[in-house]
Amino acid sequence: MKNILIVGAGFTGAVIARELAEQGHKVRVIDSREHVAGNCFSERDKKTGIMVHIYGPHIFHTDNEEVWEYINRFTEMMPYINRVKTTVYGKVFSLPINLHTINQFFNKTCSPKEARDLIENKSDQSILDPITFEEQALRFVGRELYEAFFKGYTVKQWGMSPSELPASILKRLPVRFNYDDNYFSHKYQGMPRDGYTPIVANILNHHNITVELEHEYQEVDREGVDHLFFTGPIDSWYGYKFGRLGYRTLDFEKFHTEDDFQGTAVMNYGEENIPFTRITDHKYFAPWEQHVGSVCYREFSRACTPDDTPYYPIRQMGEMELLNKYLTLAETEKNISFAGRLGTYRYLDMDVTIAEALNMARIYLESLEETKKMPVFTVNVR
Ligand code: FAD
Ligand code: UDP
Repeated sequence: MKNILIVGAGFTGAVIARELAEQGHKVRVIDSREHVAGNCFSERDKKTGIMVHIYGPHIFHTDNEEVWEYINRFTEMMPYINRVKTTVYGKVFSLPINLHTINQFFNKTCSPKEARDLIENKSDQSILDPITFEEQALRFVGRELYEAFFKGYTVKQWGMSPSELPASILKRLPVRFNYDDNYFSHKYQGMPRDGYTPIVANILNHHNITVELEHEYQEVDREGVDHLFFTGPIDSWYGYKFGRLGYRTLDFEKFHTEDDFQGTAVMNYGEENIPFTRITDHKYFAPWEQHVGSVCYREFSRACTPDDTPYYPIRQMGEMELLNKYLTLAETEKNISFAGRLGTYRYLDMDVTIAEALNMARIYLESLEETKKMPVFTVNVR
C-alpha cells in the first residue's frame, strides 16, 4: 500500500485517485478551490434553477469506448448534440460550415457537388501545405468565408492574427458539404443529467480517498508521500522561476432574461468590432428540463494575468521555449508526475483528460509490480 498525494480535484486528479484507491492505495486529494471538478464545475443558478457551467460551457464528446463506459459508470448521460450558430453581417448562420451555411452565405441552392465545386473555386489552391490558421482557412474555405466566420472571431479569441497561429487550431472544425450541423464528429456525445460536479464527486467517493478543498499545495504536504501527481500549472511548481507560461483567460458577463433570449445554446459573433466571442444560454444545455426565461453568459477572451484563471495555453514559439526549460527540470524529478491540462500545458478535451489519467494510473500500478521508475510524464508534452 502506497501513500499518494494528488494536487488538483479536476477530472485528471479524480480519475487517477480512483484507479489507485481501487487497488488499495491511500490517496489524499487537495485542491485550492472550494469545489471539486476543476474547470468542469457546474451548479444550479440560484434564481432560475438552470444548471450552469461556471468556467464555460462543456459538452462531452468522444470516440473512445473505454472513456464513454467510464463516464457512464458515474453519471447518467443524456442525449445532446451541440449545434452552434454564428451572427455575422446582421444575419445568423449555421456552424460548422455546412451546406446550409454555404447556400445561405452565397445566396444559392447548391447541391453537395455544386457546393464542393464552388468552394474549390474560391479556395486558394496554391497553398499546398498550410502552416498557419489563415493559410488553412484560405486553402479550405476561401477568403469570403474566412473573413466572415473565422478572422474576427480568432483575433478576439487569441489576441493575435490568424497568420500567427498554427493551422491545427482550425483543423478542429470540419467543413461539410451536406446539412449535418453537428458541431462534433465523434461517435458519442452527451450531457450529464445533473451536471459535471456530481460525476467528479462520485469518482472521488471511495473509502481510500480523502479530499481537502481550499487547500493550496505546500511543501509539508509531501511528507510521508510515496508518489505525488501534480495537476496544477507546471510553471507554478517551479515558482515561475523562468517566467510564466502564456494563457488566454475568459471573462463571463452573466445576465438573466424573462423571455427566451436567443433560442439556442451557443451563438458566436464573428465580427471583430463586437467585443465578445459568443453568448451561451445554459438552459439549452439541458433540453430535457423545462425552464421559463434564460440565464446567459457573454464570453470575453483576454491575456491571462497572475490573478486570473488560466484557460487556453497559447503554445507559441516563445511559450514553447519556456516550456522546454521547465520540462528539462521536471525530467530530473523523482516520485512526482505531472498530468492534466495545466501539468502538461496542453488544451485537452475532457475525454482525452480521462484517457490520459487512466493511462497514467495504469503505468504507475505497473511500475510498482515491476519495481520500475514511474515516469514524470506519460505523454509527449513538447
Ligand atoms: P482542471 O479542471 O483545471 O483541474 C486542475 C485543478 O487543480 C483545479 O481545480 C485547480 O484549482 C487545482 N490546482 C492547481 N494548482 C493547485 C495547487 N497548487 N494546489 C491545489 N490545487 C491546485 N472539454 C470538452 O471535452 N468539452 C468541452 O465542451 C469543453 N469546453 C471547454 C471550454 C472552455 C472555456 C475550456 C477552457 C475548456 C473546455 N474543455 C472542454 C476542456 C476541459 O475543461 C478540460 O479537459 C478539463 O478541465 C481538464 O481537467 P484537469 O483536471 O486536467 O484540469
Ligand atoms: N473559430 C472561429 N469562429 C467560430 C468558432 C471557432 O474562428 O465561430 C476558431 C477559433 O480560433 C477557435 C477555433 O476555431 O479557437 C476552434 O474552435 P472551437 O469551437 O473548437 O474552440 P474552443 O472549443 O476551443 O473554444
